[in-house]
Amino acid sequence: MRAKSILRKSRKIDSWFISYYGMNHYRGCLHGCVYCDGRSEKYNVEGEFGKDITVKINAIEILNRELNPRRKRKPMRRSYIMLGGGVGDSYQPVEKKYQLSRKAMNLVNNYNLPVHILTKSTLVERDIDIIKEINEKNRAIVSFSFSSVSKEISSIFEPGVPAPEERLETMKLFKKEGIACGMFLIPVIPYITDKPELIEDAVRKAKQYRVDFILFSGMTLK
Ligand code: SF4
Repeated sequence: MRAKSILRKSRKIDSWFISYYGMNHYRGCLHGCVYCDGRSEKYNVEGEFGKDITVKINAIEILNRELNPRRKRKPMRRSYIMLGGGVGDSYQPVEKKYQLSRKAMNLVNNYNLPVHILTKSTLVERDIDIIKEINEKNRAIVSFSFSSVSKEISSIFEPGVPAPEERLETMKLFKKEGIACGMFLIPVIPYITDKPELIEDAVRKAKQYRVDFILFSGMTLK
């Protein structure tokens, strides 16, 4: 599809991402998490969730316009640009072919902006070169979401996603490059991953991998 705009703007700063601006180039998600909000009719994701993806094919052209300070009457508010969220992971398998997240990172870098990425995919490793450059000039945060760090639970509720241990290993690579990493323990699934021992396991792993922060939240049932 051809998108009319890419940057989501909010009046108040998003306290999870320290961001006024967000973007995502895909609607729908091949990761197919059982609890994903994107399954809700509210979001009007076309096709069968987990199988069909809409690609915003002109995303980079529009984003270039939206980020260009010469095309703005008011400068952008200083905050991280958030990549991800919404109803599709920015580093889901189609990103290998379209590379829209990589190209967007290049623009963010060229316009000297900071970025906060949220994903469940280890494919983000591919872009470590650009993310490192952004971090050195303006700061970058790479966050991963987890419902728990249990491989077994993840394989049931997040069938298309790399196992928790693989996500943690990817964080280690970013940490080695001096890039801040966050664990979004979201959603904690009622009666499944809200057991104290599972939450403690996640916190212990976060500490072991020197994760910089953890955010918790429950599950929304749209
Ligand atoms: S990775 Fe995120 S966007 Fe994709 S299905 Fe899972 S929860 Fe939804």
